[in-house]
Amino acid sequence: MRVVVLGAGFGGLELSAGLSERLGAGVEVVLIDRSEGFVFGFSKLDVLFGKQTRATVFHPYRDLAKPGVRFVRAEIEAIDPVAKVVETDAGTFEGDVLVVALGADVDPSATPGLLEGGHEFYTPEGAFALRDVLAAFPGGRVVVGVTSTPFKCPPAPSETALLLHDYLSDRGLREGSSIALVMPLPAPIPPSPDASAALLQAFAERGITWHPDRLVSRLDPEEKVAVFADGDEMAFDLFLGVPRHRAPKVVEESGLTSDGWVPVDPHTLETRFPDVYALGDVASVGTPKAGVFSEGQAAAVAGLLAARHAGDGGGPGYQGRGVCYLEFGLEQVAKVDVTFRSGSAPTGFLEGPSEAIAAEKSAFGTSRIRRWFDKDWPDR
Ligand SMILES: Cc1cc2nc3c(=O)[nH]c(=O)nc-3n(C[C@H](O)[C@H](O)[C@H](O)COP(=O)(O)OP(=O)(O)OC[C@H]3O[C@@H](n4cnc5c(N)ncnc54)[C@H](O)[C@@H]3O)c2cc1C
Repeated sequence: MRVVVLGAGFGGLELSAGLSERLGAGVEVVLIDRSEGFVFGFSKLDVLFGKQTRATVFHPYRDLAKPGVRFVRAEIEAIDPVAKVVETDAGTFEGDVLVVALGADVDPSATPGLLEGGHEFYTPEGAFALRDVLAAFPGGRVVVGVTSTPFKCPPAPSETALLLHDYLSDRGLREGSSIALVMPLPAPIPPSPDASAALLQAFAERGITWHPDRLVSRLDPEEKVAVFADGDEMAFDLFLGVPRHRAPKVVEESGLTSDGWVPVDPHTLETRFPDVYALGDVASVGTPKAGVFSEGQAAAVAGLLAARHAGDGGGPGYQGRGVCYLEFGLEQVAKVDVTFRSGSAPTGFLEGPSEAIAAEKSAFGTSRIRRWFDKDWPDR
C-alpha cells in the first residue's frame, strides 16, 4: 500500500509515525512538506516571550528516519482527489491512499491595517519577529485581538495575554501598561465552563480586561485604533492579532472543500472521494483546530489503514478526545480534557493550574519529538 501524506505538521508526522510503527517496511509512505522543519504551535509563544530561541524549537525534517517513510521537501501545487495524484515542484506522486494534512493558512493581509498597524503572532515568522518588538516595547496599551473564526488553538489568545502580563511585570512595565483581550467567543474556552471560569479569574487578578463576543474587523494604523465588527473602537500602542484563517489554496482548488474546509466522516476522516482522507486543521471534523486533535485524528487514520492492510475492516475510528494544555503564566499550566462527539455538547474537565502540569506539558513535547524524529529535545 502506498500512502501519500500531504503536510508534515502535527497530523502528518503522527500519521507517518503510526503507519511506520504498525506496518514498518510493509507500507510505503511518502510524506511531503514545503518546510525545512517542524515547529510546535506552543513553541511560537515560547520564542515570542524569550523563553526559547528559534534554533531550539526547530526540528529539521532531515532527521526523519522512519522505516517505510520517505520525506520529500516540495511545494504541493495540485491535488487530484479522483486519480489520487499530487503535482509538486519536485515531481508527481500517486498513491493508493491520499491523506490531506495541510493545516490552515493564515492571511494577515485579509484584515485591513493589520500588517501596517499591528503584528500577527500565528506564523513562526510573525511570532519570532515579535520577540524583538516586545523587547523594545516601552509599555502602553496592548490589545490582543482575534479577527475571524474559526482560529487555531482557541486558548492561545488567553495564554498570550497572561504571558504578556508576566513579561511586562518582569520588566517593570506592567503598571504603565494595560492589556485587553478581544475575542469573538462568549467565554475563553466555551466547551469548558471550569477552564473559562479559571481564566476569567486569572484575568481579573492580573487586571487584564476581557471583551467577549467582539471581532476586530480592521485597524486604523494612523489613529492606532482597532475597529470592531459592530463599529466600536479601542485604542492601542501595540496590537497582537490572530489573523484570518483559510484552507491552503491548493486544497481549495482541488474541489475538496465546502464552506471553506474539507468535510469528512467524523469517525473515519474519509472525504467524499474514496481513499482520500483529510485530518487536522484543514478538515471540518467538529473539533477545534488544535494539534492534539490533529494528532488524535492521525492516530485513528493510522489504525484504520493498518487494519485495512491486514484485511480486517475494524478499528474504533476517531473518538473526538483531546487533552489541551493551558499556560496561566507564573510557570503554571492547566489541562483541559475534552471530548467532542457529534450530537452531544462537549464538556471539558479542568485540572490545575500547577507546576506539575507545566512539567507534563514539557514532557508531552519531548515525547512527540522522540516518537516522530527518534531524537531527544535536549535544550528545553
Ligand atoms: C500561537 C499558537 C499556539 C498553539 N498552541 C497549541 C497548543 O498548545 N496545543 C495544541 O494542540 N495546538 C496548539 N496550536 C495549534 C497547532 O499548532 C495546530 O492546530 C496544528 O499544528 C495543526 O496540525 P495540522 O497537522 O493539522 O497542520 P500543521 O501543523 O499546520 O501542518 C501543515 C503542514 O502543511 C504544510 N503545507 C501547507 N501547504 C503546503 C503546500 N502547498 N505544499 C507543501 N506543504 C504545505 C505546512 O508547511 C505544514 O508543515 C497553536 C497554534 C498557534 C498559532
